[in-house]
Amino acid sequence: MTAEELFSGDGEMAARMRAKDWASTPLGPVDSWPSSLKTIVRILLHSRHPMFLWWGPQLIQFYNDAYVPSFGKGKHPAALGGTGRETWPEIWPIIGPQIDDVMRQGKASWNEDQLVPIFRNGRLEDVYWTYGYSPVFDESGKISGTLVVCTETTSRVQSEKALRQSEDHLRRVVEASGAGTWEVDVVSGQMQADARMTALFRLPEQSGFGFQRALGRVHPDDRERLSGALASALAGETQGRCLVELRLEGSPGADSRWVELRGQVSFDAAGKATRFIGTALDISERKRAEEQLAESERLRGRAERERAEVERLVLMGQMAAGVAHEVNNPLSFVKANLGFLARELDSEVPSLDRTELQSLLRETQQGVLRIQQIVTDLKAFSRAGNVGDEERGVLEEALREASRLVSLRLGAGCQVELELDPALPVVRLSQRHMVQVMVNLLLNAADAVEQAQPTRLPQISVRARRVEEGVHLLVEDNGPGIPPEVLPRLFQPFFTTKPPGKGTGLGLALCWQYIARAGGTLHAENRSEGGARFVLWLPLAGASGA
Ligand code: ADP
Repeated sequence: MTAEELFSGDGEMAARMRAKDWASTPLGPVDSWPSSLKTIVRILLHSRHPMFLWWGPQLIQFYNDAYVPSFGKGKHPAALGGTGRETWPEIWPIIGPQIDDVMRQGKASWNEDQLVPIFRNGRLEDVYWTYGYSPVFDESGKISGTLVVCTETTSRVQSEKALRQSEDHLRRVVEASGAGTWEVDVVSGQMQADARMTALFRLPEQSGFGFQRALGRVHPDDRERLSGALASALAGETQGRCLVELRLEGSPGADSRWVELRGQVSFDAAGKATRFIGTALDISERKRAEEQLAESERLRGRAERERAEVERLVLMGQMAAGVAHEVNNPLSFVKANLGFLARELDSEVPSLDRTELQSLLRETQQGVLRIQQIVTDLKAFSRAGNVGDEERGVLEEALREASRLVSLRLGAGCQVELELDPALPVVRLSQRHMVQVMVNLLLNAADAVEQAQPTRLPQISVRARRVEEGVHLLVEDNGPGIPPEVLPRLFQPFFTTKPPGKGTGLGLALCWQYIARAGGTLHAENRSEGGARFVLWLPLAGASGA
C-alpha cells in the first residue's frame, strides 16, 4: 500500500501525513511499515473521535483532525512524526509511566475529567480530559503502540465548576439573608423546603408532602389573602411573582410569628405554570418593632392633643380675666348711667334737658354694643377642637372677597393689591375662616396706613405663592410698622394699642387660633423698607392634622 492509499481522505491530517517524509523518521518509508501500524493509522484517520497514537520504542506520534483543536497553538503540526518525550516534556512525568505500563504490561487505563495541564497557546493551561490508554498489538502479538482515545472536557468541567461556585454563592447569600427556601411542583402539588422553612412552618419533613400542608400552618385569617396572591402569580399576573406578609399559627402557648413570603412562578413554553419557587423570612421582630412604633406614635398623638387642650384651657383662663377687665369698664358706666336715668325719671325736677338725656342714652347704648362685640368675638374663640381633615378653602375666592369687603373701609384712595400664583391649591382652612382672617389682617393694615407719619400714599398688598406642602401668604402695608415691645404681645387676646371703642385686641388672637388649628403658622415682622408684614403658611387640604 502506497502512502497515497494509506493516508487517503481530505482531512488536514491525511494531507499532512501524505506530505510527511516518513523515510527520515525512525519508522522508515511507509512501504516498510507493519500492516498493524497501517491498520491502526487508517482507523485513526477515519475516526471523528479525537485519537492519538504512540508507536514503536521511540513513541512516534500520529493524531487525527478531531484531536488537533486540543493542541491550541504550539505543538501542532510539529508533533506529527515526533517523539512523545520531545512533544510533551511538561507532562512526561505523568504520562511517561502510564505509557510505560501499557507498552510493557498491556495495562489499559481510563481517566475521567482528569486535569492534565499542557503547554498550549503560549502558556501552561489547565486542560481536563476523559481518556483511555490501550495497547496496540503487531502481527507477532507484541505490544508496539499505545492508542489514546480521548475527549477534552475542559469547558464542561469549567462550566460545572462555575455552576457549583454560583450555587455555592447563592446558598451563602440565602444563608446570610436568614430566609428559608421552598419549591412547589405545580403539577403534582408536592413541596420541598429547606431546614429553615421546615422549622418555621413546622413541616413534617423537607419533602414528600403536599403544598396544602404548608397552607394549613398559616393563620386562618391570612389564608385567603395568601391563596389569592398565589393564584394571581400562578395565573401569570404580577409577572408570576408574589409577596405576602402573613402570620403563622402559633405553636400552643407561643406568639404567632410573622413571615414574609416571596415567590416566583416558572412557566413552560406553552405558558403553563410548572414550578413555584421562593423564600420565607421570619419578620416577627420587625413587626413587633413596627407595632411598638405605632403605639408610641398613638401615645404621642394623645399627649399632643392633651397638651393642646391644656393650652386652650390656660388661654380661656387668661381670656376670662381679660373679659372681666374689658367688660367691667363699659358695664360700670352702663350701670351708672342706668341708675342716673332711673333717678332722673323719679325726680320731679329733671337735671338734664332732652339733648343731654339723648347723649347719655347713646353712651349707654355704645357701652352695651361694646359688651356685645366682646361676647361675639369670644363665641368665635371658644369653639373647641381641631380642624377636621375635610375643611377646605379656595384661597383665591377668599382673598378676593376679603379685599372687596375691606375696600369699602379703605375708600377710593387705596386698593388692596393682590398678587396670586395661578391655580393655587385648596388649603385646609374653611372659606369662612379664611375670609375672616384676611379681613382682620387687612383692616389692621388699613388702620396702620392711616397712622403713618408723615402721611403717604397707602399701600397694602397680599401675595400668595404655592410652596411644596401648602401655600405661603404675605400681607404687607406701608404703615408705621410694629414697635419692638408690641411684637411679642401681638397675638395675645385683648392686647390692643387702639383707643377704647376702636379695637378689642381679639382680632389677631383669633386669626392665630384659626390658623394654628388648621396646622398652619402665622407670624409678624417689620419690613426693612418700613411697614408691617404678616407671614402665613397654610397646609394643603387633606394634609394630616397639626
Ligand atoms: P385690634 O385690632 O382690635 O387692636 P388685633 O389683635 O387685631 O386687635 O391687633 C393687636 C394689635 O396689633 C393692634 O392693636 C396693633 O397695635 C397691632 N397691629 C396689628 N396689625 C398691625 C399692622 N399692620 N401694623 C402695625 N401694628 C399692627
